[in-house]
Amino acid sequence: MMNVDKKKIAGYLLFIIVFFAAGIYLSDFSFESREKIIARTQILMGTVVEVRTRNENEDRSNSAINAAFKEIKRIDDLLSTYNSKSTIWKINNSEKKKYILSDELFNFLLRCDSIWILTEGAFDPALGSLTKAWGFYSDTPSVPAQKIIDKALLKSGWKSVRLIDKGIIEKESLLLDFGAIAKGYAADKAIEILKSHGIKDAFVNLGGQIKVTGNSWTVGIKHPRVFNLLLAKLKIKNYSVSTSGDYEKFFFEQGERYCHIIDPKTGYPASKCKSVTVINKDGMLADALSTACFVLGPLDAMSLINSIPGTEGLVVNSSGNWFMSNGFKKFLIK
Ligand code: AMP
Ligand code: MG
Repeated sequence: MMNVDKKKIAGYLLFIIVFFAAGIYLSDFSFESREKIIARTQILMGTVVEVRTRNENEDRSNSAINAAFKEIKRIDDLLSTYNSKSTIWKINNSEKKKYILSDELFNFLLRCDSIWILTEGAFDPALGSLTKAWGFYSDTPSVPAQKIIDKALLKSGWKSVRLIDKGIIEKESLLLDFGAIAKGYAADKAIEILKSHGIKDAFVNLGGQIKVTGNSWTVGIKHPRVFNLLLAKLKIKNYSVSTSGDYEKFFFEQGERYCHIIDPKTGYPASKCKSVTVINKDGMLADALSTACFVLGPLDAMSLINSIPGTEGLVVNSSGNWFMSNGFKKFLIK
């Protein structure tokens, strides 16, 4: 009897040892080799949009990804300045001063307003006349005459937009431009949709606006000058990462680089940075802040980022020097 028990115990011990050994063995493998990634891309919002799920049921993933793409398309139809179907395009191309908006759009504008205040106007979603004057809505951008910049400055600025109760806005004859925030908002919404379809582990990338949910994901930040080289790799979990760079849309004139991010004070392209990355749980805020910090330059950007709880950032200034916020290092993969 004793012998049988001893045999049983030895058997259990062997089972436990093999079980844990297998556990150690498995965890020695790269997780990625065992991951089942479903990744799909579409061109939406003028960029390549990639949605990935990890270790999820294939049918569920496919219908969730379809719904996420549909949601991003819906947001483009709401906020785009290029697409003549969009509500914002219609507002920009109308002579009216007063508009009644949906709850969603009005709430979106309220958030834009609070970020405009937070960044002391460095994020300004009413700079469409300036973007247009510099030719960034066309294929042939160029430096405009000073009088054209002055005229565009008079027709720009969020200060001339009034948000009135019950979804009504009033604005002067200026052009709204949500290019600095719309993709971050779309990333938030796409992740919400994926979750509502039962997806737990996912990654969304809208041309550099990234949001992830579930387990950790590795995210690369592009080098601002060397094509195909990464500046840094980050490990993030349930965060958004937004990068604004002078390499995205730009032109050279007389040896000078002019990029698509405009300093609302001068009406000229911002030139203090090459690249700004901001991390926050909220994609919309991360997106708007990366643009605003690009305008502010490294020092003001760092004090702004360090003053906002749950926000970290990396700035590469115009000379290529790095500036990191207080807690940025914890996301860096060495
Ligand atoms: P992002 O790539 O997110 O930094 O956004 C850049 C886009 O935002 C530009 O292409 C413009 O459409 C718009 N934009 C440019 N300058 C500003 C600014 N200072 N504040 C808000 N939007 C801006
Ligand atoms: Mg942005």
